[in-house]
Amino acid sequence: MERLASGKMACPDHPTAPPTITVEPSSGIVCVFKFTCSYCGVLVESNKMSEKDANNRFTLNTQLAFGTILAGGHRSTAETIAVHLGLPPPVTLSEWAKDMEYLREVTSKVADRSMYQAAEEAVEAVNDTDITVSCDGTWQRRGFSSKNGVATVITHSKDKPGKVIDVEVMSSYCFTCSRYDDDAPKHNCTKNHQGTAGSMETTGMVRIFCRSLEKRGTRYLNYLGDGDSKAFSAVKDAMPYGPDTTIEKLECVGHVQKRMGTMLLSKVEQCKGKEFSWRGRKHRGIGGLGKLNKSTIMAIQVQYGIAIRNNIGDLEGMKRCIWAIWHHKNKNHSDCGTSCPAVNGTGDGNANSLPIFVLNEIKPVFETLSEKSLLKKCLHGGTQNNNESFHKIIWSYCSKNQFVQRCRLELAVNCAVVHFNDGVTNLSSVYNYLNISVGQQLAKHLYGKDFLRVGSAQKLLGKEGNGRRKRKISSKPDNQDYQAGAF
Ligand SMILES: [Zn+2]
Ligand SMILES: [Zn+2]
Repeated sequence: MERLASGKMACPDHPTAPPTITVEPSSGIVCVFKFTCSYCGVLVESNKMSEKDANNRFTLNTQLAFGTILAGGHRSTAETIAVHLGLPPPVTLSEWAKDMEYLREVTSKVADRSMYQAAEEAVEAVNDTDITVSCDGTWQRRGFSSKNGVATVITHSKDKPGKVIDVEVMSSYCFTCSRYDDDAPKHNCTKNHQGTAGSMETTGMVRIFCRSLEKRGTRYLNYLGDGDSKAFSAVKDAMPYGPDTTIEKLECVGHVQKRMGTMLLSKVEQCKGKEFSWRGRKHRGIGGLGKLNKSTIMAIQVQYGIAIRNNIGDLEGMKRCIWAIWHHKNKNHSDCGTSCPAVNGTGDGNANSLPIFVLNEIKPVFETLSEKSLLKKCLHGGTQNNNESFHKIIWSYCSKNQFVQRCRLELAVNCAVVHFNDGVTNLSSVYNYLNISVGQQLAKHLYGKDFLRVGSAQKLLGKEGNGRRKRKISSKPDNQDYQAGAF
């Protein structure tokens, strides 16, 4: 076959015969355009769409499958798009499953490399192979009905952004097992969890800790997690680093901060029937106007969080700043910060003071929440916010609304790891593994997503994040805009 000087394709023996063009749907959305000599029938050329990979599979179908995952969709999504474009539907369900499995393998290589690098960076940051990690779990569905969950571990350091260092995808479902009750034939079972959805985080976390030395070359000696973490107790009991090495529990400042609001609210509830006399008048309860109303409780909770986060590594300072909140409400401003109106002289520092009978009732809350044993676990000032953001990315690649098997969830998690650690653009390294070149449009598209990501992070750090949080008592703790004494 050859091209004539005019650029037209032609048969070498019959250059003047016009080619016959046939279109053959062959597999999935792939259509092969064939140019044959109209005189002798020899194949002159076929189109690029029919490129195949090393496994003799059409790369275009794999590309469609990968694009569908990144859009958070499924085969049905791809079918809707393909037929609207006038293309044949995607490959059959069983072929699609093969593509998923293949992509799972490839993405797990890319994700694993990324997590290994995260471990190296974390070790470098503290110059120690014993590191601090924040741990959390996420489920595809709320409550105990979830058959899929993920345990996630993210590095934590004072001045470096956290990165995902390990994940464990848990599933209590297997398609084959569910078809045959107890007598399922030998099969590649996708179930890797027995028991309740609640115990998924626990099991996953133990697995992650037990392989940390072997897989990441590090020990996770500080466990940052929420209050009554069953997963932490299980990890501790598993003694992943031997009986002589203890793992320290650190508290998520966000969760501790919420306790302030919860405890104050329940104090108000407890005191509802109680009578107080103050300044010659009788008062029922400690809630309501001029006393402990919801916005005051919210302000105290925010201040409490700030007192912790502004005193990272300084236990005494933390304690002093927490009590400064109480004293400020009692018109004593000796420990107030410069943003207290009584200190900077911009206004009436006592405008928001509380009656002493209210302060006396809430004093025990301050005592509990300023205990050294608790504050010690908050000295790092960290939260599980990173885990929460990472979980959001996972579920953007795998909708919570449609049940999936483990392979599909693992794919989403792998992509989320790369996205969270290195940016969306780095998902193109999956294409390197697949030996598919990344076109300009795709590169632009991925880059655009990273650009948006950076943009929205900046927005959150700026002014726009405040309004939404202000209204909620159980607000997220990553808001540094309030200053001590500003209530
Ligand atoms: Zn099975
Ligand atoms: Zn003050």
